[in-house]
Amino acid sequence: MRLIRNGTTSILRQLTTAEAESVRRYCGAGMKTEGQDTQVVEAILAEMHNGKEPRYWLECDCRDGEATEQRPRMTARIRGDGPRHFVRIAGRDAHHCVLRSFRTDPSDDDGETEEGGKHRPLRPILDTLDYLDKEHQTGGKRPGSRAAAGNKPGKGRRLPKLGRILYTLLEQAGFSSITTDDLDARNSALRHWDRLERFAIEEEVTDALNLWDLMDTRPWVKASQIMTEVEKLQWPTGKKRMGYLLFVADEVTATDATKFTSLKPAVVTPANPIRIGGRDQNFANPPYWVLAVIDRDDNGVARVREAFAQHAFDKGRPVPLDSSYERHTLALLLEVMGWVKRKGVTVTLKKPLFDSEVTLPDGATAHCRADFELEVSARAGARPVPGRLLIETMGADLQEYLDQKTATHAIMQQRGAIIEHVVRHDSEQAERDDRLRKRVYGRLMALAGMPPSPACA
Ligand SMILES: [Zn+2]
Repeated sequence: MRLIRNGTTSILRQLTTAEAESVRRYCGAGMKTEGQDTQVVEAILAEMHNGKEPRYWLECDCRDGEATEQRPRMTARIRGDGPRHFVRIAGRDAHHCVLRSFRTDPSDDDGETEEGGKHRPLRPILDTLDYLDKEHQTGGKRPGSRAAAGNKPGKGRRLPKLGRILYTLLEQAGFSSITTDDLDARNSALRHWDRLERFAIEEEVTDALNLWDLMDTRPWVKASQIMTEVEKLQWPTGKKRMGYLLFVADEVTATDATKFTSLKPAVVTPANPIRIGGRDQNFANPPYWVLAVIDRDDNGVARVREAFAQHAFDKGRPVPLDSSYERHTLALLLEVMGWVKRKGVTVTLKKPLFDSEVTLPDGATAHCRADFELEVSARAGARPVPGRLLIETMGADLQEYLDQKTATHAIMQQRGAIIEHVVRHDSEQAERDDRLRKRVYGRLMALAGMPPSPACA
């Protein structure tokens, strides 16, 4: 990244790697900031804006391989008495880096915050009032509530509240697990939609309002129509009128989410760029779950305010996933589940969306979340607890991320044996896949107390 004189290409200076990393953590939606980031970003903004007017632009280097006019740029702005902050320059805002999902500052992502520097485990929404935004809290928040921002040291991404709501819905509806009994039922998703409805009806926000009242699952319904319905409802005071739209999209870009229908495609276009959960953020691997917020803007016009997307395995079985690498692993695990099913073994596969608590050998409590967990049902008179196997997909991620993952394996081992699956799509992938299938099959049969036998015979 570099500072350039406004309206020119003349370079003032290149940002250091550390500065560029601070900007990306600070302004990348869902990123977790580190202690120095606020200070570093404030210093860069002070260089860019002298207090009266902006003098330098920040040019991102994520598209340096392309034409100069493709390079994304940001300017600095001061609004009223507020602090300096970044603003993307219209038409120059298509990043190929994490700034694709932009936030003005970390407080734009509400939801999880750190307490006492400790990682707070990711948990489902428990307080039903949390489904609704506060009256004056939404949309276009400016810096100023910085004290609330997570500036504590830490790594990894912070899940925005909308993502936490999506995970809660998918988990409660059962979309995140598959049993060997479900394997042949390609339409098991239908059952999950019913379960979603039941769950949302039971989520009573007030005596007169439940979550299902403000939810729609039809992307072709217009925002204005959804808001008209929402406005007929009795609403808790201090909460903003809003609705949720949940569906599986066939295509997602930073600007819109599309579902193909037998008529014309239904396109949902939020006012803000679409954010994606998980690590694989390039929108290139549909289908995706999409949860969108519908409300009215400052002028009273109904709109899709924002949306959050998450990989889904496939349309018939939209198991939420973190990456396309995990999709590759899951396809293999489903094959193995088919094999053990033929041997009469019942297995439940779970894609954990929230953290599990484990007790370490020294008695301390820790949290972890494996990519997949396979549980073998306890047989009558056999082991008292279900046997569990954890599967970790090691995709072509950043080394830092893989190191982090290895570090958490010590914690995960308290929940079950871990099998790693490296996905690189190189010439050795078929061999790795074969090894995974055989190892998982062998372990599952052992957990079920069955004698070992040749895998797919
Ligand atoms: Zn960029």
